[in-house]
Amino acid sequence: MLRARFPTTMAVVVLAACAFEPVGEQPIEPPAFYREWWAKTEACSSRQADFDLVEWYVVPGDSFDCPSGRCAGRWDSGHKIYIAEGWKNNELVVRHEILHELIGHPGHPDPPFGDECPLTWETWTAGSAAVAAVPRDSSPAHID
Ligand SMILES: [Zn+2]
Repeated sequence: MLRARFPTTMAVVVLAACAFEPVGEQPIEPPAFYREWWAKTEACSSRQADFDLVEWYVVPGDSFDCPSGRCAGRWDSGHKIYIAEGWKNNELVVRHEILHELIGHPGHPDPPFGDECPLTWETWTAGSAAVAAVPRDSSPAHID
């Protein structure tokens, strides 16, 4: 009279092995100013998304391996944002990744990247000292 019970693990989906996976990333609680940068980025792009869906990671060092070479920051589908330790307080790098989350895909269509939201190395004009210090002719790490 016992009903056979089958485990439901058959339904477990194995994530694709090719998923981007940096080395040594640590999940972090986003600092309060990330919310301010989120709001600014929503405003410039006229797009909205749920801040609390994002999983934030800091990767040790000033850059990390990524599909385009070395990255200071990277957005990954599935609401994940990776920031190199050395850039975690940099408005350009963080907001660049936020804008990817808002548009929901990689690549840099203009708009919103460009005049609306100048969130690339080439377009950033906010005068952040950290970015201004980067020589234009020595290309910094990518922001994907
Ligand atoms: Zn990008």
